[in-house]
Amino acid sequence: MINVFQPSLGEEELAAVREVFAGNWIGRGPRVAAFETAFADHLGVGREHVTSMNSCTEATFTALRLAGVGPGDDVVLPSVSFVGAANAVAAHGARPVFCDVDPRTLNPAVADVARAATPATRAVVVLHYGGYPGEVAGIARWCADRGIPLVEDAANAPASTVDGRACGLFGDFGVWSFDHGKIATAVDGGMFYARDPELVRRARKLAYLGLEEVSGHERAARAADRWWEVEVTSFSRRSVLNDVLAAIGAVQLRRLPEFLARRAEVVDRYDAALAGVPGVVTPPALPPGHRTSYYFYWVQFDSGVRDAVAADLYRAGVYTTFRYPPLHRVPRYGSAAVLPGAERAAEHTLNLPLHQGLSDEDVDRVVRELRAALERHVDPMG
Ligand SMILES: *Cc1c(COP(=O)(O)O)cnc(C)c1O
Repeated sequence: MINVFQPSLGEEELAAVREVFAGNWIGRGPRVAAFETAFADHLGVGREHVTSMNSCTEATFTALRLAGVGPGDDVVLPSVSFVGAANAVAAHGARPVFCDVDPRTLNPAVADVARAATPATRAVVVLHYGGYPGEVAGIARWCADRGIPLVEDAANAPASTVDGRACGLFGDFGVWSFDHGKIATAVDGGMFYARDPELVRRARKLAYLGLEEVSGHERAARAADRWWEVEVTSFSRRSVLNDVLAAIGAVQLRRLPEFLARRAEVVDRYDAALAGVPGVVTPPALPPGHRTSYYFYWVQFDSGVRDAVAADLYRAGVYTTFRYPPLHRVPRYGSAAVLPGAERAAEHTLNLPLHQGLSDEDVDRVVRELRAALERHVDPMG
């Protein structure tokens, strides 16, 4: 089976884990700090703007909490979003207000956000579909003009930029994922960015039981009395990363350019092989100044064959999927929105396998099976 997403883990990551084991410190420690510094460097921001968490979902919950989202508030987010983003809104007692997306890019336009906004809008959450930045710069400007905090779910976009600026840095908060399905993985893990370093300090406390941040060792070294006592600042959970996972994440972050280079080759090969194939369109061109992280490769069918093609591909050993099924249709969120762009995208889009472990032969096989399935299901008479 050709996987749709797949991690690339090997000897370097194992060696890093072995080193952590040998050091006898596996909790949040020097490796977590080094991973955070490396990630801040990667983004091009100071260390004080970034802290790690055990997942991107937890980082999103934290961002909405620090944005002051609560009961009576609306939060605008695209219907084509990761389910955790909508859960983070609803869990704070706020109402997720879903906006439409462009049916080709699956990203919202500034106008989509503006149309969905209400007087009760307390925050906006956007992602960068498949690594495509979308109109994030314009959306950030729209939010800033109105004093509405913007949270960027940059989990798809660890290396995406607009005019050299990293996705995740356009808003007030940015969050990234290092879970098992991402381009660079720590097995599990997330990163949190805030423009205001004071909010990062609060996020760090929230991520560790709301405790004031002075370690027992530091206090013991200062010969403080009773260094085991705690100072509680909020009733928080525990959402920290640990040195084992951070050691893996740091290696993966170092390998990210190599992963991106291979993903770009795979995308070029798909684009070339699928250009001009009747009945299927490839992802739209990136606007000038935009760079993607090549997280998704998606095709769209101009007739209702998507499900049949996906089933044929599965039988032929090619796993595909659709990210992200529109949340305005999930009853539990209680949305009555009518969003034709998201509906259209959801009916016609299929994510093809894209990862750095694909060989040219794998890509050719996917294309061959896709063309064969199209021939079976597309009526040549239209
Ligand atoms: C993977 C992903 C998440 C969740 O990340 P976790 O680290 O698994 O919580 C959130 N948003 C997007 C867009 C994702 O792709």
